Amino acid sequence: MIITCKKGIPETEINKIIQTIEAKGLSVHPSKGEHLTIIGIIGDTTILDEKTLEANHYIDKITKLSAPYKQVSRDFHPEDTIVDVAGIKVGGKENIVIIGGPCSIEGIEQIDRIAGQVKEAGATMLRGGAYKPRTSPYAFQGMQLEGVLAIEAASQTHKLPSVSELMDVDKVEEFEKHIDLVQIGARNMQNFSLLKAAGTMTKPILLKRGLSNTIEEWLMAAEYIMASGNKNVILCERGIRTFETYTRNTLDLSVIPIVKKKTHLPIIIDPSHATGDWELVESMSLAAIAAGADGLMIEVHDTPECAWSDGAQSLKPDTFKVVIEKGKVIAKVIGRDI
Ligand code: PEP
Ligand code: MN
Repeated sequence: MIITCKKGIPETEINKIIQTIEAKGLSVHPSKGEHLTIIGIIGDTTILDEKTLEANHYIDKITKLSAPYKQVSRDFHPEDTIVDVAGIKVGGKENIVIIGGPCSIEGIEQIDRIAGQVKEAGATMLRGGAYKPRTSPYAFQGMQLEGVLAIEAASQTHKLPSVSELMDVDKVEEFEKHIDLVQIGARNMQNFSLLKAAGTMTKPILLKRGLSNTIEEWLMAAEYIMASGNKNVILCERGIRTFETYTRNTLDLSVIPIVKKKTHLPIIIDPSHATGDWELVESMSLAAIAAGADGLMIEVHDTPECAWSDGAQSLKPDTFKVVIEKGKVIAKVIGRDI
């Protein structure tokens, strides 16, 4: 349930409403915007009497929510959420963020070298997987803690916040300590224990859409994280499974305006995993910017032919730079910048 307050409602009146509702054992989430104050209520709202609440002259209207997600909903929080990733702002009208880096961290030297290259090309964050969700148990599984420490060092040297995937609940402390933006990968989008654990972290979460998940399931996954206490969630579309086999997945760009309408959370696009083909990354990146994405996450490798994973979809640093330069032009058209 959402209570929309009248303009100019005094703080004391807001607090009175909150106290009345909390006294009934419900959880209250006020959102005090510049123009509007909204009070979201979570729990069994059937115990509330709408007519009694409406008797308060400072209440404009009461809306019952039909969507199963609450904290994620824009009704609940009308203003865009801007997520701060170690000083880099994501969402709203902030600059579009560019996350670049290899699929897998392959060593201290490799991640440091590629960090320098993506920084020089104009990236704002550094990605690199230390724990890899591989289809085959025989494929490279990632450098694990050594990789986490390697990306932390490269991130500090090149002043680029780090992004890396958390796969297990037992690594939460490790990621809390060493990683700036904690990724939940597509395969774990409905790993509810992991989502709840991510909700207890103080670090922002990058939640990828599952391989075959609907928008509602994806937003419910974000709701898990927020309901557990972490309000800093960035969504990432990375392509979904369709009947098409030409590309690795099918990039669903239509989710950008849908997510913007339904939620207040930032959304970024990963054209690398979406297409599986480096030659398609530029056009999909530009299209994503035009469609209103708050950022891009692109795999970059200086020797993609030797990459330990996903070389076929990785851009070389010079091509990555071209994508950013062209992206700046498109961003201007829609009133943003990179
Ligand atoms: C990744 O970003 O490294 C990754 C494995 O992506 P996804 O979870 O989208 O497949
Ligand atoms: Mn990859």
